[in-house]
Amino acid sequence: FFALLFLAALTLFSCEKESQPMDTTANSEAKLLQLDLLYTGSTFTTTINGSDITLNRPLPLGADKVSIRAIAVSTGATVDKKNNDELLVGPNPVEITVTAEDGLTKATYSLSFDLLDYTSIVEKHGLLQVDGNKIVDENNETVSFAGNSFFWSNNGWGGERYYTADVVRWLKLDWGTTIIRAAMGVDESGGYLEYKLPNKNKVKTLVDAAIDAGLYVIIDWHSHHAEDYTDEAIGFFEEMATLYGEYDNVIYEIYNEPLGISWSATLKPYAEAVIGAIRAIDPDNLIVVGTPEWSQRVDHAAADPITGYSNIAYTLHFYTVYHQQDLRDRATAALEAGLPLFVTEWGSIGYTQNDPETELWMDWCRTNNISHCNWAVNDKQEEWSILSPGGSTTGNWSDFDLTQAGLLARRIIRAWPEK
Ligand code: MG
Repeated sequence: FFALLFLAALTLFSCEKESQPMDTTANSEAKLLQLDLLYTGSTFTTTINGSDITLNRPLPLGADKVSIRAIAVSTGATVDKKNNDELLVGPNPVEITVTAEDGLTKATYSLSFDLLDYTSIVEKHGLLQVDGNKIVDENNETVSFAGNSFFWSNNGWGGERYYTADVVRWLKLDWGTTIIRAAMGVDESGGYLEYKLPNKNKVKTLVDAAIDAGLYVIIDWHSHHAEDYTDEAIGFFEEMATLYGEYDNVIYEIYNEPLGISWSATLKPYAEAVIGAIRAIDPDNLIVVGTPEWSQRVDHAAADPITGYSNIAYTLHFYTVYHQQDLRDRATAALEAGLPLFVTEWGSIGYTQNDPETELWMDWCRTNNISHCNWAVNDKQEEWSILSPGGSTTGNWSDFDLTQAGLLARRIIRAWPEK
């Protein structure tokens, strides 16, 4: 029995000896605390979240490798990388392994890279200004821009999933988009009046991403009944003007699509109240005003334009399945009457890349230097979505991820001359 006990004790002792650290005071923490990278003389800091390491700002497009500027781990731990090590920038993440002082505890981190084309359309063109019936840049050149409208931001509608900086970056990179539109749902379910902070934060995500990417961005009060909530609109745009009024990127769109209401009796007074509030804070950024009947009655605004404020343009929307030569004629007449127009939304016939009406409209926009945003960045099963159901919310879309309407819109935006 004693022999057995002795054997058992010996076994226990040797097992313990193998499974316990040699030095019982050794630290078992294997943590990466800091990683700073260097690319062509600039430092790129990172955020470490669990085992994921992300860059705090994207690397410039074309970056193929970075070096380590600083790396720090928990006390006593070691890491398989050191200062000045070069890391390859590619589609695959770089793995970094930290080993604790005890020699046993290990943690592996995964560093992934975002790339951004840092050339800035806004740096090139600056603040947009109305000059007669045209929009000009800071060099007084007539300009028009082509890009994308996001879908209603409303909580739970689906389109809000695409309000990400990654999608903004991808639209710039792959589509050549120079302007985006944040369509903040207001009075419908899940909208701003019901969920202020989430909707506002979605808008801010896009605006911040557009500023980083050097794109123009429209902050759109996406409502069909805005005159019923004038005070809410004023409060919102005061906040946006305070946050973003100094950025040439930003355009305010104070009413998406009014319904069949009077321009002079209802819409114009609403617009003047909201514009007055914006102008008290931001004296100069472009403001776009919706027109009656889903922003098609630009003739009503042309007959009685806003005169008390400067840098005001007017909204024209068209969907080629419904709106054709009649609306182009009306819009041409409004231009000839001196009204500057901005197409903050347009949609093709859908489900096909062959849409002659879209070509006619785009010829008209090009001839008249009208900027336009395509409706919409979403994967909802309807004719105007650019994405097939389940399209990634971080971009990197292949042609198969795009709908026919998406492929058509991308071809137009890519080919738009103003870059
Ligand atoms: Mg300003």
